Amino acid sequence: MSQEYEVLCIRCPKGCRLRITVEGNAVHVVGFACLEGKRFGEEEVRNPRRIVTTTVRILNARYPRLPVRTAEPVPKDRIRDVIDALKGVVVETPVRRGQVIVKDVAGTGVDVIAERDMEAVG
Ligand code: SF4
Repeated sequence: MSQEYEVLCIRCPKGCRLRITVEGNAVHVVGFACLEGKRFGEEEVRNPRRIVTTTVRILNARYPRLPVRTAEPVPKDRIRDVIDALKGVVVETPVRRGQVIVKDVAGTGVDVIAERDMEAVG
């Protein structure tokens, strides 16, 4: 017996509507406009992952929060762990875009990096 899903590809703004059929171990994806979308559809069934974006506290900066994100997508069921792990993080200026803020966040094997530069003030 097969199962069918409809999923929006979120790998680029085009937003192709994918139709995914799972039959035993076989995953069949149609509706993609590029191979990235085919991979996304297969991963959505086997191991759905997302980039997590949030902010952390920063000291002595123009703004009180620094935008950060995971350098790679993390498993969807670990997103809450990643957010929780970042709650108490406090960063000192200066910070450079792409700088690692937390290594191996919540044991996911993925680093959290700064989304922008932030200079010291005063
Ligand atoms: S299938 Fe390719 S073109 Fe379509 S939304 Fe996904 S990444 Fe973009």
